[in-house]
Amino acid sequence: MKIVLLGPPGAGKGTQAKSICNRFSIPHISTGDIFRKHISEMTLLGIEAKKNIDKGLLVPDDITIQLVEERLKQEDCNKGYLLDGFPRTVAQAKALDNFLVKNNDSLTTALLIDVPKDFIIERMSGRRVCLSCGASYHNKFNPPIIEGKCDVCGSDVIQRKDDEESTVRNRLEIYDAQTQPLINYYRDKNLLSVVDGTQAINDVFKNICDILGREINDNYKE
Ligand code: ADP
Ligand code: AMP
Repeated sequence: MKIVLLGPPGAGKGTQAKSICNRFSIPHISTGDIFRKHISEMTLLGIEAKKNIDKGLLVPDDITIQLVEERLKQEDCNKGYLLDGFPRTVAQAKALDNFLVKNNDSLTTALLIDVPKDFIIERMSGRRVCLSCGASYHNKFNPPIIEGKCDVCGSDVIQRKDDEESTVRNRLEIYDAQTQPLINYYRDKNLLSVVDGTQAINDVFKNICDILGREINDNYKE
């Protein structure tokens, strides 16, 4: 099963990705998490990416595409994967298509978590993340059991610098201009499925499982 998760920042992609990947035993590939790991390790790529991320801008396509292609070539991706936060531009979507074609492969579905803008600021301002494993929490909607500590790995849970309100507004503008066109891109390829992301976290997940069950029957090839 090969899934692309689409949706504006704060839609709940990371939250749902963790549950989907546990349920279907596929790797969770989050470009945002990969960049944050490079930043925390102060690699050259991390230093370059940070300049864009802190301003709410996208990391350039060539860097991002190369990073994802390298990740997809790893053995754990043979049976499937979930891409969270990639593609974010039409150029990235085309690069992913080329990669799939070269490997005689195809996507199972592009799943849009649909959330209107008025929900986003509250979700982003309350978001707290674990820098170690990438788990995402919300101080009102989904708090960790022990305040400030990740339920999964016990590391510190912090607020992302790019979740400050002014940066979030930039990210939403960039989403509208560069990422939203992917909804039609995948609709035209008959690959788009949509879930209502305004429901409670567990209800969104239940709907996603229903959708993926259908897509597995219709489109899934080993
Ligand atoms: P994304 O990966 O799409 O940017 P996240 O999964 O990190 O989004 O979710 C953004 C914030 O909203 C987090 O604080 C998360 O806990 C919270 N959240 C996610 N899904 C829901 C939901 N269905 N209802 C309320 N809050 C949610
Ligand atoms: P995310 O964790 O998905 O919200 O991503 C955090 C930030 O990382 C984004 O605001 C971008 O700056 C950068 N980023 C993540 N994925 C991509 C991508 N596919 N293309 C370009 N930049 C990305």
